[in-house]
Amino acid sequence: MAHDIIVIGAGLNGLVAANYLAKAGKRVLVLERRAMAGGQAVTEPLGSGFGVDALHAGGQLRPDIIKDLGLAMPPTTSEPLVSLLPGGQQLRLTADADERTIGSIARLSKQDAARWPDFVAFMQEAAGFLDAAYRTPMPRLPHVSLSQGLPLAKLALNLRRLGPRDMFRVIRALPMSALELTEEWFETDAVRAAVSAVAVHGATLGPMSAGSGYTLMHNWLNRGGLGHRRVEGGIGRLAEALVTALEARGGEIRLSTDVKGILVDNMAVRGVRLAGGEVIAGSMVVSAADPRHTLLGLVGAPELPPHFVWQMQSIKMRGSVAKVHLLTDGNHGLPAGTLVIAPSVRHIERAYDAAKYGRMSQAPYLEITTSGPVVSLHYQYAPYALREQDWSQERTVLERSAVDAAVGVSPSLRESIREVVSLTPLDLERTYGLTEGDLNHGQLILDQMFFMRPLPGWSSHATPVEGLYLCGNGVHGGGGISGASGRNAARAILKG
Ligand SMILES: Cc1cc2nc3c(=O)[nH]c(=O)nc-3n(C[C@H](O)[C@H](O)[C@H](O)COP(=O)(O)OP(=O)(O)OC[C@H]3O[C@@H](n4cnc5c(N)ncnc54)[C@H](O)[C@@H]3O)c2cc1C
Repeated sequence: MAHDIIVIGAGLNGLVAANYLAKAGKRVLVLERRAMAGGQAVTEPLGSGFGVDALHAGGQLRPDIIKDLGLAMPPTTSEPLVSLLPGGQQLRLTADADERTIGSIARLSKQDAARWPDFVAFMQEAAGFLDAAYRTPMPRLPHVSLSQGLPLAKLALNLRRLGPRDMFRVIRALPMSALELTEEWFETDAVRAAVSAVAVHGATLGPMSAGSGYTLMHNWLNRGGLGHRRVEGGIGRLAEALVTALEARGGEIRLSTDVKGILVDNMAVRGVRLAGGEVIAGSMVVSAADPRHTLLGLVGAPELPPHFVWQMQSIKMRGSVAKVHLLTDGNHGLPAGTLVIAPSVRHIERAYDAAKYGRMSQAPYLEITTSGPVVSLHYQYAPYALREQDWSQERTVLERSAVDAAVGVSPSLRESIREVVSLTPLDLERTYGLTEGDLNHGQLILDQMFFMRPLPGWSSHATPVEGLYLCGNGVHGGGGISGASGRNAARAILKG
């Protein structure tokens, strides 16, 4: 065997894991089904060939990962979150509590403006705790050995250091809804709604759902606040930096290489089978594909214990995000920033209501980002599983509805559109390999977090198959762009 470890998937987490393993001296081979690395964090040509961050609008890996791996990262700029309100009003929010933010809030409520710095300080504390939790290996409950207990004790100490008031506030906020959380801080619906929009971004939850307090902390941590951190030259440059580092460490990456099966004998990995039939032998496989696809699709139920199969089938993967890209002549009239159409909490909750019943939101929560003449619309909610239609019929409805909503805040947009390219949840599955269009490889909900991610008892990155590990978004440390689950998995593997 020319390689010690095969990694399936060159998304950010697969590449982070591969880099840590190569840095430790392992000979690593990464296999990626698409013709480019990056997974969901790609900059690619769409439609007639205009280049765009196809899915994820911005972000950065965790600073400790960049440092550990010595990555040459492209510069990034943090954008404000701008809520576009009826009547042309704008609410501009940043996590710095700077003068412009305070002034913008004060136009709606002096009391909310006065509370903003404390809210930001609390959210930074909460995100810091979550970061520490994502770095901490989770025990395979109910068996907690001494070596597993120590990191947990350290995490508890971390929490204790927040002081009694913030410690309870953080613990309490996790199961709360974004509405309950923001109600405790702000009197203005528009401020509550703008913050709640960040909480539900990418999740099939509404601002009134339990646990959207947790997703607010999660998204705050990954964004470093509220608006996106845009990557100069496109988000695809993060993967480029990881590929360069991996190759410099002697790792190999094969693109356009679709793994069709993980070969298992006597509950131990023997290698992988590719789409063309080629077999690559190996005794260790690390999969960055989602846990359900990896175990049920690539290994197959007959090779697994029945109870484990049943648990895997129960992972909730309910994608409800679509993306609509507009190539314009440049006169779209939209300001810079991470723009949201989320004028009230009720607006977002109503948009979510549709998804509960398998329908696309008529009046969506929309997040708009621009890049030169390209306007990108992140549309929630567009459920993968439509109750009455299918996505081949609904694409035009999606495009019309997304454009109408955006034109509602920038009338000159309609005239400037030259081309529309949409990515439905079904496209997310077929093109980007996201089962049920779920960008987190498993919903970020209370019963799928920490030691329950991907499954209770299996949060240590291992699987019932000897030599098979999970390192993607769907395991502890994921989701999102941080690279934490890739790093955690590599460390667990190297520890043995
Ligand atoms: C519309 C959208 C908006 C988002 N917004 C945010 C946000 O605001 N904040 C945030 O933090 N995150 C966001 N995300 C999520 C974020 O992009 C991902 O969490 C992140 O990129 C990490 O993903 P990953 O590396 O674990 O998995 P992926 O990027 O999904 O990578 C998995 C890789 O495995 C490959 N693969 C799968 N199966 C096989 C196979 N059988 N053989 C070979 N290769 C295979 C895939 O092609 C893919 O390249 C968003 C995602 C989307 C789609």
